[in-house]
Amino acid sequence: MTLPPTRILIVEDEPPIRKFLRTSLTPQGYQVLEATDGAEALETIDRNTVDVVLLDLGLPNLHGFDVIQKLREAKSRIPIIVLSSRTDEAGKVKALDLGADDYVTKPFGLDELLARIRAALRHRLQQEGAAPEFQSGDLRVDLVRRLVTVRGEDVKLSPREYDLLRLLVLHAGKVLTHKFIIAEVWGGQTDVQYLRIYVRQLRQKIEIDPEQPRHIQTEQGVGYRLKA
Ligand code: CA
Repeated sequence: MTLPPTRILIVEDEPPIRKFLRTSLTPQGYQVLEATDGAEALETIDRNTVDVVLLDLGLPNLHGFDVIQKLREAKSRIPIIVLSSRTDEAGKVKALDLGADDYVTKPFGLDELLARIRAALRHRLQQEGAAPEFQSGDLRVDLVRRLVTVRGEDVKLSPREYDLLRLLVLHAGKVLTHKFIIAEVWGGQTDVQYLRIYVRQLRQKIEIDPEQPRHIQTEQGVGYRLKA
């Protein structure tokens, strides 16, 4: 039995970038579909099985934000990776808050893009399987028994620290914005400074070197990502 190829939809109005993506992804074994504006993107997703969307934000005929919003309102869980420009920090954060999974900043390297695509696909599988146990390197989290171990040793977490780690585990591989984490863990009732303190505490408990974290990665100015 052979699996169908992974199909990636490129949504981008600039022909050179579309071409770069198409000629880079096809030799990797991905099947590539293309849309040049937001409306065409939604139509394409409607008519085809698409596994990952690479989405430019500045699009004619429906902005990238609207594409994300419409897909998530329609309960689509298709992974979306935003192609963001270096200067558009706020746009990146807004896209993630609307439900995008990840972003790459233009100009991006192919290796980075491929890694983000693989992470998005893994995240999707995890969501579908909802694995009750998470393992990454020396970290193990048993979501049923609320047990956390590092290198086989039990780690004692406060309830809030556990909630924070659990949220990261449920979205492992995905960038979570500060705003999203604060809303989910504190009901929106705290600020980024406070979140940083909790992340620091958590790192001290689960990282070998909290200054060089391998599990909880900082996305500068955006949020955090747990390595899947
Ligand atoms: Ca554009």
